[in-house]
Amino acid sequence: MPRPIQAIVHQGAVRHNLQAVRRQVPDVKVWAVVKANAYGHGIERVYEPLRGADGFALLDLQEAERVRALGWRGPIVLLEGVFEPRDLEICSRLGIWHAVHCDQQIDWLAAHKTHAPHRVFLKLNGGMNRLGFTPARYRTAWARLSALPQVEEISLMMHFSDADGEPGIERQLAVFREATDGLPGERSICNSAAILRFGAQPGVSQDWVRAGIALYGSSPDYPAGSIERWGLQPAMSLRSRIIDTQQLQPGDTVGYGSRFTAEVPMRIGIVACGYADGYPRICDTGTPVLVDGVRTRTLGRVSMDMLAVDLTAPIAAGHASGFGSEVVLWGRASATHGGQWLPIDEVAAHAQTLGYELMCAVAPRVPFEIEPLQD
Ligand SMILES: *Cc1c(COP(=O)(O)O)cnc(C)c1O
Repeated sequence: MPRPIQAIVHQGAVRHNLQAVRRQVPDVKVWAVVKANAYGHGIERVYEPLRGADGFALLDLQEAERVRALGWRGPIVLLEGVFEPRDLEICSRLGIWHAVHCDQQIDWLAAHKTHAPHRVFLKLNGGMNRLGFTPARYRTAWARLSALPQVEEISLMMHFSDADGEPGIERQLAVFREATDGLPGERSICNSAAILRFGAQPGVSQDWVRAGIALYGSSPDYPAGSIERWGLQPAMSLRSRIIDTQQLQPGDTVGYGSRFTAEVPMRIGIVACGYADGYPRICDTGTPVLVDGVRTRTLGRVSMDMLAVDLTAPIAAGHASGFGSEVVLWGRASATHGGQWLPIDEVAAHAQTLGYELMCAVAPRVPFEIEPLQD
């Protein structure tokens, strides 16, 4: 038998989350962002529930080819555009749209012998100072692109730096409006945080939104917002089992560095999950976990292949928790344990990071399973 750890992708939750995004911005086209192998879920595992999206957005041509290989004939966009001239060849062949964020990419297009003219998303640097043309140079870039026979259609895009917190999107929204005023073309500016927090305000959602993290059931603005607040469901569960137990007496310690000391007699479980599975080592005593669907906490340091959990609460709840019990590191307990969930955002907060990082970092040794769509 393999180690009992596994990651489960809940296809029904992914579809539910796409619908939640749509409800927030009705009549707007939705890019399902599936970069980083669908935020660690696996493009092939989320394709079915995301087929209702209007297009797929990603970074990597190989991932774009995988989406085409699944049979997707609709729009695909490369959010960082092409990385070298010959990528343009593949874009023409597979009908892939691409961002244009720098002069070099325009030079490559100008020299490119294309059969089918390209659709590009011209990126404005609205103040994040990562990719894109500054407002002062944006119209020149637009004019250069529009003069190229290789370019069929120019859309306009920007990315917010603070949609998930303060100061919000107001200032960069104004920068976008001014820089693009009067230019033709479809527009795309909102990520998940902007969709959920501001998408219902007039003039924010524009023509296309780019939904990533919301589809995977993590709140982009945790702890101000939560998946419950936004009506999202966890798309990934990391589950394992208890492979041993120990009975502690007051003064006994747990794990490397003896970082936890029992003050009362207590029973603890040893879980087959460690940092080599992608569970953050920085999660020390007190990180929430579910044992048999009952919320409890980790104890002491996470080791490479194991961590310890407090069984006091599950036992008090009447479960015979011990050897073989189900442990949910994040996500949803199995139906036999009530289907309770532990948002990945809560674990991420204990690891001083975001749900994004945890879901992308599940280690290759963890086997994945799909909980398929019901119909
Ligand atoms: C990753 C990404 C998104 C999606 O962001 P979320 O916060 O996951 O919704 C949107 N736009 C661009 C340009 C991105 O790189």
